[in-house]
Amino acid sequence: MRPAILDDARLSALAREHGTPLFVYDAATICARYAELSGFDVVRYAQKANPNLSLLALLRECGAAIDAVSAGEIERALAAGFAPNEIVYTADLFDRAALEGVARHGIHVNVGSRDMLAQLAAVQPRADVTLRINPGFGHGHHRKVTTGGSDSKHGIWHEELPVAIDQAREFGLRVVGLHLHVGSGASFSRLVRAGLELVHAAERVETTLSSISAGGGLPVRYRATDREFPLERYAESWRAGVRSIEARARRPISLEIEPGRWLVAESGVLVTEVRATKRQGEREFVLVDAGFHNLIRPTLYGAYHEIRALAKLGPERAVVVAGPLCESSDVFTQVPGGALAPILLPPLVAGDLLAIHDVGAYGTSMASNYNSQPIAAEVLVDGERSRLIRRRQRFDELFAPERELL
Ligand SMILES: *Cc1c(COP(=O)(O)O)cnc(C)c1O
Repeated sequence: MRPAILDDARLSALAREHGTPLFVYDAATICARYAELSGFDVVRYAQKANPNLSLLALLRECGAAIDAVSAGEIERALAAGFAPNEIVYTADLFDRAALEGVARHGIHVNVGSRDMLAQLAAVQPRADVTLRINPGFGHGHHRKVTTGGSDSKHGIWHEELPVAIDQAREFGLRVVGLHLHVGSGASFSRLVRAGLELVHAAERVETTLSSISAGGGLPVRYRATDREFPLERYAESWRAGVRSIEARARRPISLEIEPGRWLVAESGVLVTEVRATKRQGEREFVLVDAGFHNLIRPTLYGAYHEIRALAKLGPERAVVVAGPLCESSDVFTQVPGGALAPILLPPLVAGDLLAIHDVGAYGTSMASNYNSQPIAAEVLVDGERSRLIRRRQRFDELFAPERELL
């Protein structure tokens, strides 16, 4: 679903104003996605999908709570205006900075390893905790983003849950939440199966339980042919599970969901400028100023992103779209495993602009400074208005931590 407001003229004008590569996000698309999750009591944004402070503030205004997976994400959430009690730290370990941040701000923890229980009890005696369960299976759009099953490092293995609950009690912690996240871009049936697992697990802690989290992982449609996710049926299946827990436990249970991609993926477009074109034997290459330092999903997962030329028409040709990095995998049009997957574009020359779609999630949040490329600028469009929400990184910022030691 491409935001209609980000039309060719608008994107071209923004690229002229701010330069390229440029991420452009549409606020209305994010708010519309948020509104669709009204079947859940709490929508907890998984900020790792896109942690720009202005997007966090926007989602906070919509009513979202927030998830943090590191000390840095706790600091970001606080900087964006979230109160400590709106933040949950979800991880399989505390690095020392995260444990310190959790202790200092009194952040609720979603525990993914039993070692974390004693560490938490030492800094937050008698704390309430959530336990993340690995249900013994997982599912994601790619092996690398599957977060359940015995090949996954995430969560407390389902057979160890009784031990974990006993340990939590021994340390004086109160288990108030159960959580599960089986993967990113998961299928409906796997997500529902995970829900049943959680309802089963809830029997063990129902005297103290107050929340159930369905995790994130809701898929979005990167291709027009991808199926629409049956969100209402999904919410209803969780709701039914929660009702059965409530009936047994005789207490109200809050149903949480924790999406990242769902909220922001489709809102974002990466505008990039064609800087060279060339033919290598049979192949035609279009070389642009964005690369995997801006968007690594194609390189990492062979992920598909729709790419189109802005304000250009003409007979289409099959081309490979590649970036500026000194790295042969710096190609936006490839399949899992790395084989090239040319796409059809009109004739292009240096100076033309391309739009890469559905990059709001795991685009700039996975950006790097590889090849000493600066982090790109970001713009938020809100109706007729737009504003810069991240300025392009300056070169002196790239090496400041080294220069001061030279
Ligand atoms: C990554 C992650 C999410 C968000 O995943 P999406 O696929 O972006 O919805 C939610 N919860 C946890 C624990 C995660 O690790």
